[in-house]
Amino acid sequence: MLEIDGVSINYGPVSAVRDVSLKVEQGEIVALLGPNGAGKTSLLSAAMGLRPLAAGSIRFKGEDMRRLDTESRVRRGLTLTPEGRKVFANLTVLENLDLGAATRARGADFHADIEMCFELFPILAERRHQTGGSLSGGEQQMLAIARSLMSRPSLLMLDEPSLGLAPRIVGQIFRLIRDLRQRDLTILLVEQNAHEVLRFADRAYVLSTGECRYSGPAARLQEAGALMQAYIGEL
Ligand code: ATP
Repeated sequence: MLEIDGVSINYGPVSAVRDVSLKVEQGEIVALLGPNGAGKTSLLSAAMGLRPLAAGSIRFKGEDMRRLDTESRVRRGLTLTPEGRKVFANLTVLENLDLGAATRARGADFHADIEMCFELFPILAERRHQTGGSLSGGEQQMLAIARSLMSRPSLLMLDEPSLGLAPRIVGQIFRLIRDLRQRDLTILLVEQNAHEVLRFADRAYVLSTGECRYSGPAARLQEAGALMQAYIGEL
């Protein structure tokens, strides 16, 4: 579904990602792991068209993404829930969700999708008229994911959804990610919380200092704990 092939990304003279290839097949949960500064966020940003490629190509559902702007990629079913959530603090929950649907026509299914979000996240239904800024960290993360779902993605990329959340809430977010797969969503998940994620991911990639150090089944990475400890630090 998503094919990242030989991608390099630079920030001026700084090389952030070098010759990285990554595939996500339909229905998979793929974990993208690695320490701070490894290049994970840069790779997701490039997939969305938010960072230019210095080399390589990105295909989604067989189509070359390089000439498409971010909005066109979202329309084709690719979306990103960014690191740090980035909910609109002064807008209500409903207004945030409304903005998530900005790339699509507003038909009857718009309301059905709002209801689907409220079914997935009952707390958001309770808080629908509250502003994003008044929500807790966990609720903001739920809102950020729900906002992404409003664009009707087929591939959802999540950048560190557990960052800064209490362990109980992290468990809730991870359960939700597994539920989303049951709803036909394909997921590419960037996480620091490698140990938890490898329990439910199908495959994993490990980036370190801009290069791919591992790609293969999540279970095999878990078994290779000692080897990977150097890169992920917590297995
Ligand atoms: P983190 O978990 O800390 O977000 P990451 O794996 O997502 O790490 P990136 O944020 O993609 O890593 O950063 C990769 C490299 O690119 C780092 O060396 C970082 O300092 C550099 N970098 C990222 N954004 C910029 C920027 N806007 N300008 C210059 N360098 C940047």
